[in-house]
Amino acid sequence: MDTYQIERKRMVEQQIARKGVHDERVLAAMMSVPRHLFLPVEARDYAYVDSPVQIGSGQTISQPYVVGLMTELLDVRDEHHVLDVGTGSGYQAALLGELAAEVHSIERHAELAESARERLTRLGYENVYVHVGDGTQGYPPHAPYDRIIVAAAAPSVPDPLLHQLAEDGRLVIPVGKRFSQLLEVWDRTGDDFHKSTSIPVVFVPLIGQEGWEG
Ligand code: SAH
Repeated sequence: MDTYQIERKRMVEQQIARKGVHDERVLAAMMSVPRHLFLPVEARDYAYVDSPVQIGSGQTISQPYVVGLMTELLDVRDEHHVLDVGTGSGYQAALLGELAAEVHSIERHAELAESARERLTRLGYENVYVHVGDGTQGYPPHAPYDRIIVAAAAPSVPDPLLHQLAEDGRLVIPVGKRFSQLLEVWDRTGDDFHKSTSIPVVFVPLIGQEGWEG
């Protein structure tokens, strides 16, 4: 194992599994995606520490435990089509690429989207597609989605995301105030939507038509 693999194993065992993420598929995906390659070169030493890290354009890659928890809550299966809102570095999209059939990831900053797209291509993620746009509107061309995950905080759950869920679809999204939110899990059964809440979190704002003003 190289140094990064050793650090990654430690991250998975000591931060993620120890704090309660037990889904074997999620842990295996987090063991295989080289998180350090999703960070700017000068930040790579922080890739496996238990905190968010700056990735440029004023954005952050989320704390590994929160990524693990959200991915576990999403309950992704092999055959799923997934929408990832807020591509950022592309790390979450890569994890989803390991777990799902097809992933569409949407980012409002064109330059972040471009570098994430290049990185994902270089790393061989052929089932992950990066788009530029306002993810509060979802991404209609490939809807419906079995799973939708949002990595930025919304003032309330955007309707277009609920409506782009497939039958039996699930959405995981941080919702609340600008600097404190709760993770919400929305399940669709036919035309019924059921919400449950998980832990308190702090995410950068989801900026767009159904989000915060930029
Ligand atoms: N999932 C990312 C972390 C994302 S940080 C990763 O693994 O690295 C949140 C991202 O959401 C930021 O890149 C921000 O630019 C983006 N974002 C904010 N509002 C958005 C919107 N309306 N549509 C798409 N992306 C948005």
